[in-house]
Formats: sequence, structure tokens, C-alpha cells
Amino acid sequence: MKIDHLSPSQIAMYLKCSLQYFFRYHEGIKIPPKGIMTQSNCIHRAVETNFKQKIVTFLDLPISDVLDDFSTEFDERKHDTAWYEDEKPAAFKDQGYNLLGAYQEIISPTIQPSHVEYEFSINFDNFDIPLIGRMDLIHNEQIADNKCTGKAPSVILKEAESSLQLTAYALAYRAKFQKPEKAVSIIALFRPKKEKEQLSHPFVKKATRTKAANVQTFHATRDQAAINRYLKLMAHVKHAIVNDIYHPCDPNNFLCSSTYCGYHDTVCKEW
Ligand code: SF4
Repeated sequence: MKIDHLSPSQIAMYLKCSLQYFFRYHEGIKIPPKGIMTQSNCIHRAVETNFKQKIVTFLDLPISDVLDDFSTEFDERKHDTAWYEDEKPAAFKDQGYNLLGAYQEIISPTIQPSHVEYEFSINFDNFDIPLIGRMDLIHNEQIADNKCTGKAPSVILKEAESSLQLTAYALAYRAKFQKPEKAVSIIALFRPKKEKEQLSHPFVKKATRTKAANVQTFHATRDQAAINRYLKLMAHVKHAIVNDIYHPCDPNNFLCSSTYCGYHDTVCKEW
């Protein structure tokens, strides 16, 4: 397949499952987002709205305004979401309120953004297509990625240390700003694992508060060896794509399931 660019998310998808990449980019089959993606995207959007104006005003919007932004976005997007039968959109919305409320109270006041949803396109001397992408946030010469997650903090720390997406961002940052970033980080908004641990935020639900929402930042760094390795990886992925090398991933991989792959119960069955 001929391609005119690569992005960190495309590379990540190809590495996760090249057949998934084939369905999405070769066949052009788009799948509606699941509930957790809609929740996460709406939180991203509200955080973006606040930080974009903060670049100029140096002030956070009132938390109620940011939550309203989330609410409006969620109500629009919930109709285009692939909900499971037993999922209740209202529960996802409540949880989103709690996570976002905690983010606005704990994280936002500590950040003065310089760039929000920063789009980049990097050209290379010895590579004929650009790397195109978008970073959530740059502040104080640090690259930050916001992430709603159900994983344990130890797993997120490891991700901050080795995430290829953050490595790609470091590569782009150095190319764009002609200096290395001070750090890369994941700002994790932890979803509760069990119903009894349902996170709540005092701003949102005083009556049902059981536990403070958990929002944490995990810092890491990237060295030149990691960047060089990413460049090599990028070249190999491109070579595989232009030569139409696609295959299913290991079916024992937890990502190869109807929960995590929208192609699982449809086109992939025919492959
Ligand atoms: S169901 Fe599994 S093999 Fe098929 S596209 Fe999805 S992740 Fe890949």
C-alpha cells in the first residue's frame, strides 16, 4: 500500500496488530468508539478547551465550566458510540465528571501550557515521508500525554518510561524546537476497578463520595538511543506497509478480543 505519511498512532496500531492496521487504513473500515473512548475523548476535549485559553490568560476556567464542556460534548458523542448492552452511558458520564473534576483541581493549577494539541509534521533527509502527529500538551519544556486508564500505577510508570508514542513526541519536539525536552510524562486519570471503589469528586457528588479521585503524573526521559531506535522502527514499519505485510496478532493477546478490537466479531472472522 502506498502511504504519504506515518503517525505515531498508526505505527502503534501496526505494531499492536498489523491486520488491524490493514482493516483501518488499507480497507478504510472505521469503527465507532466504545464507551470508554467516548468518555476519554470528551475529557480530552474539555481539558484542551481550558488549557488553550490558559496559554493567554494564565488562569484556569472555573471547574463548573470545564465540566459543562465535558457534559455537552458527551451528550453529543454518546449517540455515535458503540455501547455494550449492559453499559449505562450515564455511569460513564458520572465517572468522567469525577475524573475531570480531580484533574481540574489537582493537575491543572500546576500547569502553565505553552502548546496544546500541538500538531507536528517532521521531514527527514533519508526518509521520503513525514511523521505527522499531535501532542496533547507542552508545558515548561515538558511533553505531557493525558490518559484515562484502568491500569495500575506501576504499569503506567513503565509506560511513561518506554512508550513509543512519547518517544515519537520527543523526536518531534527536538526537531521542532531544536533542543531536547526536559521530560516526557503521562498524566493518568485512574478509572476505579470495582463498583465499590467508584471514584467521586467532592465538586460533583458530595453525597456519594467514597474515595478521592486518583490523578497522578509519571515523568520519564528519553535518550538519543531511544530516538534512534524509533527512527529505525519507523523505517521498518513503513517497509512492511508498502510491501503489504499484514497478519493477525497472537489470539491470546488480550487486545485481540471483542472488547478491545472492533474488527474481532466482523471482518476479522472472515480473514
Ligand atoms: S481481532 Fe485480533 S487479529 Fe483481528 S484485527 Fe483485531 S487484534 Fe488483529
